[in-house]
Amino acid sequence: MPTIRQLSTSLVNQIAAGEVIERPASVVKEMLENSIDSGATRIEVAIEKGGSELIRIVDNGCGIALDELPLAVAPHATSKLQTAADLFAIRSLGFRGEALASIAEVSHLELRSRPAEQAGGGRLTVRGGVLDGPHPCAAPVGTSIEVRHLFFNTPVRGKFLKSPSTEMGHISEAFTRIALANPEVTMTLISGNRTVQELAATPCWSERIRGLFDSEIGQSLIAVDSGPGSIRIQGYVVDPQVSRSNNRQQYMLLNGRFIRDRALQHALSEAYRGLIMVGRFPVAFLRIDLPPDQVDVNVHPTKMEVRFVDGSAVYSRLLQTIRH
Ligand code: ADP
Ligand code: MG
Repeated sequence: MPTIRQLSTSLVNQIAAGEVIERPASVVKEMLENSIDSGATRIEVAIEKGGSELIRIVDNGCGIALDELPLAVAPHATSKLQTAADLFAIRSLGFRGEALASIAEVSHLELRSRPAEQAGGGRLTVRGGVLDGPHPCAAPVGTSIEVRHLFFNTPVRGKFLKSPSTEMGHISEAFTRIALANPEVTMTLISGNRTVQELAATPCWSERIRGLFDSEIGQSLIAVDSGPGSIRIQGYVVDPQVSRSNNRQQYMLLNGRFIRDRALQHALSEAYRGLIMVGRFPVAFLRIDLPPDQVDVNVHPTKMEVRFVDGSAVYSRLLQTIRH
């Protein structure tokens, strides 16, 4: 007869890492989301060798108190959720409390942080889930996290990594999605000694879009707005003359979170029907806002897929707005 055993914390973290941390770009996504949730107005990302050697993210957000640093890397520990009811009124990007624990389990991680009200900073290092610290240190207000040797203890996952330039492409895309959703944050992305993106904060969404995409797209933006209502859709679609061979440049932000949703992609194609050749895809940048209790974001570990209470209402609102 087999015996049933309780899994160790380390094994639980490794299993969670398998879901949430697929490649260096997943680390960048999770850490950027944390920086946004921290209220940062400036975020710098530095990458070496496609992220396999180093991922460093520095922000000027709220910071983490020295005695709470171990909690930040503990599984199921979060400052963003308290009760089950909160789960249906989520306003932050994170809430599962497992990203940092997962990353720290499969890398060498160094966390330095200082809240404004703390005189000095704190430093915590974690190697494959083993903690050292927290120790006091000098640090500016905000948080700096360095991740080195990703997947050093999970060789199978390491084998799936592609070339540094391919991984850097995925990192750039993760960066783009967050930068698009947060134009009011100054953001830079550096790879080796090359500045890949340098984006000044702006109140103007089209300016952020132009900063991230080529001039062909930048010059063909058409503003769309559903007008007020419980489902609000605003943003830009791109002139049908500028189309793509895939649907990757259809950016939809649901309450500030980048999502991929087949039904909404279909609504977009329907709106362009007759205006664009078969097999070509429109380019669009859309913000969809609806009351948080009208959507469940807790259906997928990376939160890229969501479930709408009334999906067909969102579908037809999108179709009508863009058709108009
Ligand atoms: P979650 O984002 O779901 O809460 P994480 O594992 O990503 O879980 O982070 C755990 C906690 O660590 C967060 O809830 C937050 O309190 C803290 N934290 C992580 N990154 C930062 C950051 N850049 N600035 C401030 N606090 C942070
Ligand atoms: Mg998080």
